[in-house]
Amino acid sequence: MALIVQKYGGTSVGSPELIANVAEKVLARRSQGDDVVVVVSAMSGETNRLLALARAITPTPPARELDVILATGEQVTIALLSMALQARGCPACSYTGAQVHILTDSTHNKARIMDIDAQRIRRDLEQGRVVVVAGFQGVDEHGNITTLGRGGSDTTAVALAAALAADECQIYTDVDGVYTTDPRVVPEARRLSLITYEEMLEMASLGAKVLQIRSVEFASKYDVPLRVLSTFEDGPGTLIVKEDEGMEQAQISGIAFNRDEAKLTVLGVPDQPGVAGHILGPIADADIEVDMIVQNVAEDATTDFTFTVHRNDFTRAMKILQDTAHKLGAREVNGDDRIVKISLVGVGMRSHAGIASKMFRALAEEKINIRMISTSEIKISVVVDEKYLELGVRALHEAFGLAQ
Ligand code: ASP
Ligand code: MG
Repeated sequence: MALIVQKYGGTSVGSPELIANVAEKVLARRSQGDDVVVVVSAMSGETNRLLALARAITPTPPARELDVILATGEQVTIALLSMALQARGCPACSYTGAQVHILTDSTHNKARIMDIDAQRIRRDLEQGRVVVVAGFQGVDEHGNITTLGRGGSDTTAVALAAALAADECQIYTDVDGVYTTDPRVVPEARRLSLITYEEMLEMASLGAKVLQIRSVEFASKYDVPLRVLSTFEDGPGTLIVKEDEGMEQAQISGIAFNRDEAKLTVLGVPDQPGVAGHILGPIADADIEVDMIVQNVAEDATTDFTFTVHRNDFTRAMKILQDTAHKLGAREVNGDDRIVKISLVGVGMRSHAGIASKMFRALAEEKINIRMISTSEIKISVVVDEKYLELGVRALHEAFGLAQ
């Protein structure tokens, strides 16, 4: 007998019929003799609707009150699912986040879970009930309702699985797993049966938005086996676990990409200690996140310094940089917001030389110019012109034999 935490996203609970379908799936799991705790999101579109309602009152809703309204979406689905289970003769009980003491900090709209009191849930399970918990919400130490940020139900599910020492946390969604890359770009992309937390973090942060990133970090920290699978098709999905020595690893697990990048360069800055800090300091102060950073080897007494930011921050970053460049006496500032980042991801690349050269060769064969390169232990990223995104991803998918 196992203890399973299942999470169903908004598209899986978007109508009474769909909620009935979820109830059937929960019953099927339970009839195997397992205990089930279910976490649900709000019905699809509901969180956006609530946000719009709040914004119709004021363009800047107070964060605390926004959480009060946003948390109602999940309160609806927990009750409906619990009713659907009871209507099928299955004892069930619904709880809001506060009722099962999902204690968070007080950062409204993006609170972090600090503690969960699993007692009440355990008692219900012992009495043979299915426990249905509202995702995405918690309560702070003062009793205020908080929410965890968009997609936060994934994190609720993982946190509950960790607190209950569950055997597995299953994230049911509208895709049947994690793919080698986006199937809309490469139709031959293959579902991965196994991936490590580390790889998933790289894939997720680079745009494979199947799971809230924080939920993967949480799962990794508490070693919760996490499975992504489809609500609408049977199948094993993708299991996300920690790297294991015995694991037969492909060199490359997947290709992630990010269309939201922009790059900025300062040319001819003095090659002196402190300059990099001077350039990035004001950018950081403006709360602009920097991704890749490259500084060239200095030829004379000056050097060039390039970094990338989110495209939405491009104009703001450019203004700040022009100002800094002026102060530093740099020669010139330029930028490009029509670039993308493509990354090869795989824990297997640690032990295989030659991955980078194979990657660069595959791109060269398509006459794709690489504008920037960066590497980490399990990732190689290149920045290329936006128009080469599809071609580049397809070429790499092919070169590394990732297709079915
Ligand atoms: N309902 C919330 C959202 O739409 C949380 C979630 O679905 O995970 O972001
Ligand atoms: Mg979601």
